[in-house]
Amino acid sequence: MRYATFIHDGSQKVGAVSADGQSVTALPLTAAEAEIGVLALVTRQVQGQALPAPTGQAIALTQVRLMAPVPRPRRNIFCVGRNYQAHAKELAGSIFKGNNQPTDVWPMIFTKVPETVIGPFDTVQLPTGISDQVDYESELAIVIGQGGRNIRREDAMAHVWGYTIVNDVTARDVQTRHAQWHLGKSFDTFCPMGPWVVTADQMDGRDTRVRGWVNGELRQDASTQDMIFDIPSLIETCSRGITLRPGDIISTGTPAGVGMGRTPPTYLKTGDVVRIEIDGIGAIENRFA
Ligand code: MG
Repeated sequence: MRYATFIHDGSQKVGAVSADGQSVTALPLTAAEAEIGVLALVTRQVQGQALPAPTGQAIALTQVRLMAPVPRPRRNIFCVGRNYQAHAKELAGSIFKGNNQPTDVWPMIFTKVPETVIGPFDTVQLPTGISDQVDYESELAIVIGQGGRNIRREDAMAHVWGYTIVNDVTARDVQTRHAQWHLGKSFDTFCPMGPWVVTADQMDGRDTRVRGWVNGELRQDASTQDMIFDIPSLIETCSRGITLRPGDIISTGTPAGVGMGRTPPTYLKTGDVVRIEIDGIGAIENRFA
């Protein structure tokens, strides 16, 4: 199934997206559940409850405002740096300069604050006066279902509830100024997410295609099979001594083709539109202003 969080007639709802991707039908949830979006479904399922069937009229997607499936994650989003070889190479002279650790030993993990999250078609605010090097990163994100600590890689896929798309928007100048990436990754609106969550029984995130366009020009195009650390390894690493919770989000890193990797580097400006498409999920598209 594909589950979306959306606003229709002034209220937020969670619904199942039709097979043709043209409409959504709301699930009967409490107002408090609807408020946390798809996280409510994850919570119900890990508690052993069946998900309610969609009720009522199918609503055309053109009539709703899609929100991020998890509009406000309960805590920071786990993110992975340098997880595709070609991307490691394109930023070897900048972001990854001086980091001589072999790329195959431990993944680089950082986080973004939950307040960065915006909807799949919302506008990203350029932090004018603070950064003039805003860049895009097209990424597959995992939504954790059953939580756990010290999850072994051979058990990891059973903890994946579903998949969504994230644009890990980054202020490169701020990212490189500070030893920790947190600030440069956490500006308001820097995490477009959506358009919905595809449940893990519908696709395998270990083998899908991630593409990103800027103003219609294809910039990123890779398979998740090219990840340096695969999804089971990432779940194993993030849960070492840290209990992963239902609804936690892990964004798995970006392929080559970011603006900073171009010659000369090019960054996003007002009016630019970034579209990210992942096979099996759909697409998000955000204007920068
Ligand atoms: Mg990233």
